[in-house]
Amino acid sequence: MSERFVPVFDARVRSVPLPPAGGAQLPLGRPIDRLGRRLHDLRVSVTDRCNFRCTYCMPKEVFNREYRFLPHAELLTFEEITRLARVFVAQGVEKIRLTGGEPLLRKDLPRLIEMLAGLRTLDGRDLDLALTTNASLLPRHAAELQRAGLKRVTVSLDALEDEVFRRMNDVDFPVAAVLEGIEAARQAGLPVKINMVVQRAVNEHQILPMVRFFRERGHTLRMIEYMDVGTTNGWQLGEVVPASEIVARIDAQMPLEPVEPDYPGEVARRWRYRDGGGEIGVVASVTQAFCRDCTRARLSIEGRLYLCLFASHGYDLRSLVRAGASDEQLSAAIAGIWNSRSDRYSELRGQLPPDEGRKVEMSYIGG
Ligand code: SAM
Ligand code: SF4
Ligand code: SF4
Repeated sequence: MSERFVPVFDARVRSVPLPPAGGAQLPLGRPIDRLGRRLHDLRVSVTDRCNFRCTYCMPKEVFNREYRFLPHAELLTFEEITRLARVFVAQGVEKIRLTGGEPLLRKDLPRLIEMLAGLRTLDGRDLDLALTTNASLLPRHAAELQRAGLKRVTVSLDALEDEVFRRMNDVDFPVAAVLEGIEAARQAGLPVKINMVVQRAVNEHQILPMVRFFRERGHTLRMIEYMDVGTTNGWQLGEVVPASEIVARIDAQMPLEPVEPDYPGEVARRWRYRDGGGEIGVVASVTQAFCRDCTRARLSIEGRLYLCLFASHGYDLRSLVRAGASDEQLSAAIAGIWNSRSDRYSELRGQLPPDEGRKVEMSYIGG
């Protein structure tokens, strides 16, 4: 194992051959993979560090003082991220989400947002530029993020009951401070959605209080099935509360009806209250896999392209960038990787051979 990388938690890397200069054969049209899926969303991880230790994501026993986060020189610079993002956007990406670790821990993040906000989709529109955050630093940064060109924010909050939330984030962070962050974003003019990971016997009793609270305040709540991402959280199927059960519990109190997706590949199934008071979403990655609509690519903090959240291999784009590849060469490399994609982990869950514990961690890839 190389000194440079964190043992075990760093998934294997594939080098990408540099396409020939000048004559790089750009595939015609937007890339389309072997299952007919287009490339529409890009998630960019900007740091592998976090000030929380959510038990389902960065368990303290693993992400402790001995854990070696990536050194700064390994991280993509803002210029490198923006350059790669531009190439992705030229391939049809219309939505970019910044994530981590905790993205607001990355120094000068508004500068990156400003750079990305300058990009335009293929038909000349603004990008849908979003951020997923634990909200701890939003009171300090929300206004600046909005001014830089951020379009919207997703805040992760797993419970309203303070004791439950403190136990889940495992750094004793209070609910009230997250709510302050949400309010700061709202005041800055940023639309806010809330993500809640639901775990059996941990926070399932928080579903209805969360639904009621955010419905009253006009924020869409998305409930996410607890997923077997990475290898450190000790995931077990019995800890998953199926989305169908989540919807049934809410429907029994506040009747719901389904909403058509906004676009193919939208991961949350949407439901609206029959009385017209807003909507909720459920992300059923475990019990109702949506791989056939998976239009999302992930760029890791050190410039590796991952196609599936459960991948054990990333493609090393940083080496191409640092070796002086042209935009055309990067484009050809990315299109080649996407075109040959056929992964559908969630659909095959349970039928796949053991992965030898090398799946990439959530805090590294960012969801
Ligand atoms: N730190 C930021 C935050 O928590 O919003 C961004 C990164 S976090 C990895 C992105 C999202 O992944 C969060 O909403 C978090 O709740 C979710 N997540 C982390 N581990 C998960 C798991 N095992 N199953 C489902 N969702 C998970
Ligand atoms: Fe940090 Fe987000 Fe993971 Fe929680 S879910 S430990 S806030 S990266
Ligand atoms: Fe996409 Fe992989 Fe999730 Fe399937 S399991 S939806 S391929 S990220």
